[in-house]
Amino acid sequence: MGLDALLAQVHACRICIGAAKPLPHEPRPVLQPGPKARILIAGQAPGLRVHASGRPFTDPSGVRLREWLGVTEAIFYDPREVAILPMGFCFPGLDAKGSDLPPRPECAPAWRAKLLAAMPKIELVVCLGSYAMRWHMGRAWPGSVDAAVRNWRVGLALTPAVIPLPHPSWRNSGWLKRNPWFAADLLPELQARVARLLAPRA
Ligand code: SF4
Repeated sequence: MGLDALLAQVHACRICIGAAKPLPHEPRPVLQPGPKARILIAGQAPGLRVHASGRPFTDPSGVRLREWLGVTEAIFYDPREVAILPMGFCFPGLDAKGSDLPPRPECAPAWRAKLLAAMPKIELVVCLGSYAMRWHMGRAWPGSVDAAVRNWRVGLALTPAVIPLPHPSWRNSGWLKRNPWFAADLLPELQARVARLLAPRA
C-alpha cells in the first residue's frame, strides 16, 4: 500500500474509540510522514496544544527541540527533510492530576511498522521518551530514559542510528543545567548529523 493510502487510513482511524478505555475525544492523528526524509523525530504523543493545532510540536517544547536540532521551522516542517511520528498519533487525554496520559498502546502496533516501511530513507531517529526509545533501540534500550541519554553513543551504532534525548520540555531545564555534557557533547554531534542528512539546497 502506498503512503497516501496508508495515511488516509490513519486519518480515518477509530481504533481507540472502540477500546475498553476509549479515547475521551474524537481521534485527531498528528503526524508528518516523509517518504524521502532521512531524519525521523520519534516522540510520545501530542499534548493538548498540538491536539488543537493539528501540527506536531507547536509548543515551547518544539522551539527547544528545533534549537537542539539546529534547524529552522521551515526545515522542521518540510516532510522532504524531517518525518515526525509520535508513538501515539492522537492526544491521549489527561490523568487525574492533569498530566498527559501515555501514548495510546493501540497505536504503534497498528500503524508504526507500516509507516516506517513507507519511509525507507530514514538514517537518523531522534527519540523522545521511553516508548520511542524502547521501539527504536530494541535490545540496546537500557531500561530508562536517563540511562539511554547518558549512554547516547550506543545508539549511533544502530541502523538507522538513534539519538535519545530528554524531553525538550522546559520542565527539564534543571536536568540540563546539572548535565552540561549534554550541550557540550551530545548536541554538537546531533547537529552535525542533522546537517549532513539535510538535502543540499540550491
Ligand atoms: S491513537 Fe492511533 S490507534 Fe488510536 S485512534 Fe488515534 S490513530 Fe488510531
